[in-house]
Amino acid sequence: MKKILLIATGGTIASKHSKDGLCPQIAAERILDYVPGVQAFCRPRAIQACNIDSTNMEPGHWKLLVDMIRQHYEEYDGFVIAHGTDTMAYTGAALSYMIQNSPKPVVITGAQKSIDLEITDAKTNLTDSFLYAADESSSGVQIVFGGKVIAGTRAKKIRSKSYNAFESIDYPYLAIVQDMRIIRYIPPMPFPEPVRFFHHLNSNIMLMKLIPGITPAALRFAFENYDGIILESFGVGGIPSSIAEEFYRLREAYPDIPVIIATQVAHEGSDMTVYEVGNKIKRQCGILESYDMTLEAVIAKTMWMLGKGTPVEEMERDFYRRINYDIIFERG
Ligand code: ASP
Repeated sequence: MKKILLIATGGTIASKHSKDGLCPQIAAERILDYVPGVQAFCRPRAIQACNIDSTNMEPGHWKLLVDMIRQHYEEYDGFVIAHGTDTMAYTGAALSYMIQNSPKPVVITGAQKSIDLEITDAKTNLTDSFLYAADESSSGVQIVFGGKVIAGTRAKKIRSKSYNAFESIDYPYLAIVQDMRIIRYIPPMPFPEPVRFFHHLNSNIMLMKLIPGITPAALRFAFENYDGIILESFGVGGIPSSIAEEFYRLREAYPDIPVIIATQVAHEGSDMTVYEVGNKIKRQCGILESYDMTLEAVIAKTMWMLGKGTPVEEMERDFYRRINYDIIFERG
């Protein structure tokens, strides 16, 4: 039977009521006690990475998770991470870039209700995750939640309370898990190269949401203080004329800072070449754009790219290279 390691990080799944509200208290091994049925198809073990509300998840915790997985990689056949739902999509994206070409599956899951409640999604999500992690055809980094298997780079939390909290954005579910059966929609990927772990991220990046009437001050602050800038623009992507002039000036002053245009629209991504407000400035200023990548993926990919010290002339190639299904058409 496959050996699967549960790494617990906290979240609602591990929470109990305290006088100030829900907070994670249930330890990794106790979490396993709630799903004794998984022992019918795998040999589970549990360790604790941290016990936090995922609101407090930081890049340092992602490094810790990568270190723990690397340390136990030979010993186990698959990994399940129990995680809060609030930042789970970020962790899914971050681990997708930090653990590449993994023939052993890394499954991230959690719940909208604590595992110690009578009515909860936690036991199903956890059991589905173990089932997926123990399956011969599973690999790479994914989120298993609400019966859906979502590529680590494609997940978004779209409901704050319901059990079906996550969606796969602009990419099919990799699989669904129904009544203890896995139904695959996307055939498993081949892994021609060995697994690769990346430990360095540069999280000194800024995400700036554009609003109508935005003024240049925030843009100046971003260029002066950060190593990478993501502008969450409108529609298929453009730079409003209220900040365009300052943008040209700052771009010239800081040519090594990657600037990425993403979109506030939930589906179908960016294409800056469509409108005059995007096309000209993209060409003249060497701007990257998200295309169909999720915002969480763009953020994590930028941290990863800067963390491994990609030189500015290679950023386009790195940014548009497909990793764990994050972008449909590779460019660059
Ligand atoms: N606040 C919780 C967390 O993200 C929510 C959850 O787990 O569902 O840790």
